[in-house]
Amino acid sequence: MEEAVEHKAAVACGKTEGEAGMMRGALMALVLAGCAHAQAPTSASGNRSGFVDVASAAPGLVVDMRYYGSENFIGRPIAGYEAPVCLLTAEAAAALGRVQAKLAPFGLGLKVFDCYRPQRAVADFVVWAKDLSDQTRKAAQYPNVEKSRLFELGYIAEKSGHSRGSTVDLTLVDLATKAEIDMGSGYDLFDTKSWPSDQTVGAQARANRLALQAAMMGEGFRPLKEEWWHFTLNGEPYPETYFDFVVRR
Ligand SMILES: [Zn+2]
Repeated sequence: MEEAVEHKAAVACGKTEGEAGMMRGALMALVLAGCAHAQAPTSASGNRSGFVDVASAAPGLVVDMRYYGSENFIGRPIAGYEAPVCLLTAEAAAALGRVQAKLAPFGLGLKVFDCYRPQRAVADFVVWAKDLSDQTRKAAQYPNVEKSRLFELGYIAEKSGHSRGSTVDLTLVDLATKAEIDMGSGYDLFDTKSWPSDQTVGAQARANRLALQAAMMGEGFRPLKEEWWHFTLNGEPYPETYFDFVVRR
């Protein structure tokens, strides 16, 4: 019996609301209980089982959580970041640890800018994007794009893969000095210059982007063609779940 219920739960958890709505009463309650068990953590605030502090999984990792502070495209701390800590699913964190270890013999390491991102932070971005009167960071972060076009061009969206917990924004650093390696454009520059393949940046920066991409892809991450810093773990454990617990230690 338990096995049968678990099977139904596994099927129902992946269904749309309409399909799930066809089940009723006690069975539905059982199925929902099964979902909560199978998909823990839920999006409930404060629930972060299955997530880990990446600093402990990747010794030597440099953590520079830009949305915790003011050095970002909005120019102030972003909602949901209550500590400068990089949280990711255990699977993504372990993979990053392997990347860090493989880079070390070359005197290189990783520096993360953003990791798990609560849904409320993404909502904060959206509110900011709609306020065209606030252009504080335009010169530094989107000099060639009108703020009114950030949505249609895909720079800001209602949802982010980061909220699923297996996506990370990062760069390479010199392991000894912790200085960033030149990538040809800064983090979160909303511009085609940030495309890894952009050829208006110098050859050395393009090679550095390629090195980061090779290191990440070697451990199961896939790149994004519009942002040299953004990678998502293939086979991520929560591909459909957009979490909203706050980032804390
Ligand atoms: Zn990203």
